[in-house]
Amino acid sequence: MVDTQLIPRGIRDERVLAAMRKVPRHLFVPEYIRHSAYDDMALPIGEDQTISQPYMVAIMTELLELKGDEKVLEIGTGSGYQAAVLAELAGEVYTIERISELADRAKSKLAEIGYGNAHVIVSDGTKGLEDAAPFDRIIITAAAPKIPDPLIDQLKEGGIIVAPVGERFSQMLIKGRKEKGVLIEEYHTPCVFVPLVGEYGWRG
Ligand code: SAH
Repeated sequence: MVDTQLIPRGIRDERVLAAMRKVPRHLFVPEYIRHSAYDDMALPIGEDQTISQPYMVAIMTELLELKGDEKVLEIGTGSGYQAAVLAELAGEVYTIERISELADRAKSKLAEIGYGNAHVIVSDGTKGLEDAAPFDRIIITAAAPKIPDPLIDQLKEGGIIVAPVGERFSQMLIKGRKEKGVLIEEYHTPCVFVPLVGEYGWRG
């Protein structure tokens, strides 16, 4: 997966490549599609949700510029796979999921593999996580109509947020750096994520 999908498409961060070689992606997908776990695509994980394509996980993680001691917030735990990759590369990972069945599954998977620095919370992630704020990095792994204001508030000065932003069925991957209280944004690749549903996301 790393040699055929990630390196040829330009993923360069050695720490990201090492983390993605290490995290057992097959343990985060349902058993009936385990043989496809390392294929170049998103896969269903139940509850109408998906685990992102490996390349999308890699580019989003690379854009976060993690050095090792950051406190990271993820919105959209899903399978827990992205959280595991983040847990390899950062200090503490807080990951929020709105569907409790998915959160429960991800939580036991992360604990079973030994990611004690990944904390799963069931909540509406568009409101962020006041209790653990501020964050060095924030990653939204569901499609947002715009970056929720509470998340910008809970990002540290100089911090980075990465998110798919746009229409319900097509988005652009955006990287924003908070400078003097506002996000300076860069546009990366087009993408398609399941919707971010919540108070500061899509309704229903
Ligand atoms: N990062 C995941 C894939 C995420 S799919 C992985 O590695 O597998 C997007 C997830 O975002 C879905 O599980 C969906 O239920 C969740 N989600 C959507 N809106 C949300 C919200 N407001 N708060 C928290 N999670 C949300």
